[in-house]
Amino acid sequence: MKKILINKNPTLKVLANVLHYAIFSNAELIRIQRASDSPLTVSCSVAGTWSAPMTLTDEQAQSLWTALIDQAQLNEYQNNASFWIEYDHANWLCRLDYNHGESQDEIRVRLQAIEPAKSWHDFGFSNKIGDDLLDTLASLKGLVLVAGYDESYKTAWVYALLNELAQRNLAVTTLEAPVIYRQPEYSQHDWSAGSGRSYASAFKDLMKQDPDIIYVDNGSQLTTEELITYSSSHLLIVRQEEDSMETLLARLFNDSQSARLLSALKLAIVIRSARSNCPHCLTTTQATASELFSLSQITGLEPAQVSQSTFQIANGCALCSYNGYQEQLHLFDIMIPDRTWCDNLSQVDSVTERINLAMDNLYLNSLEDAWMKLDQGLLSHREIIRLFS
Ligand SMILES: [Zn+2]
Repeated sequence: MKKILINKNPTLKVLANVLHYAIFSNAELIRIQRASDSPLTVSCSVAGTWSAPMTLTDEQAQSLWTALIDQAQLNEYQNNASFWIEYDHANWLCRLDYNHGESQDEIRVRLQAIEPAKSWHDFGFSNKIGDDLLDTLASLKGLVLVAGYDESYKTAWVYALLNELAQRNLAVTTLEAPVIYRQPEYSQHDWSAGSGRSYASAFKDLMKQDPDIIYVDNGSQLTTEELITYSSSHLLIVRQEEDSMETLLARLFNDSQSARLLSALKLAIVIRSARSNCPHCLTTTQATASELFSLSQITGLEPAQVSQSTFQIANGCALCSYNGYQEQLHLFDIMIPDRTWCDNLSQVDSVTERINLAMDNLYLNSLEDAWMKLDQGLLSHREIIRLFS
């Protein structure tokens, strides 16, 4: 992905101004329209509502349009691309969509804040789980599937993992569209539309570097056969667009090569985000009867058993803007296939039953993870009810 060099190139100045204005107004989408007989107009969508269109002068308009087309190498055949910009010390991903019409051309720019890079430690694994995962992956062969609700956190998790592995002097190579975080420690290949390269040629270049570890941000670009082949001689980490372990497993077990895929699979991980308690205003509290009932429904335990937990709630203070929550906390579903239960899978015919069997044998499930974090005071029981009901 390209980075706009805002201050160094005057033709990009108008574009930079528009993007910065949109970010400053909390817009999620920018619409730029160009008709042959009228000037260029720009409007921003904030929480689903379009602002009144801003009309640009001829000179501004020309420079904005040229900058966008050049930046993303857009044309009527190749209509979407991405790049990122830096604003107020944060990175923003700009995804462009170009519609070439008979009477009017339109470019939409979708803005997405990129979470700052995180370290392995930031993901809040208890030591043993974090170490176990790294040990599992240290043998350098096999397939790792990464999925989750929130696009930026699964990517952030992969980068945290890759950084840990790169520190062990392993050759890490990535293939991404677009590259979200530039990492000096390893080699990253971009195959987004703007880069003008096909997936196959980008992958070929990557393999020439003889990597130990490969990360691919879009699993659907590789066939099952390729996943199996490349993971037999590398650690192949693949991001999948699934939002739960169940849907990830359904995809796995519905594949005609599911037995081979499963034997290549080292780890499947699904990440979801929760709001963590503010530690500065945390107090012990009692759960209400209806909360106990909900928790018992979620966990399958009796309300009396649930009530033996210690519940803590953050009441709000200046450090958490009086809302009781601090930053994001991550919850994990983790599957590490092993022989003891994988052998039983072959005796089960239906996909649903196989998913259930795998779910019963997860190394960690997000509800257990949430419950551990509740015990540590990191997560409130109300947040658990919100997430799992
Ligand atoms: Zn607080």
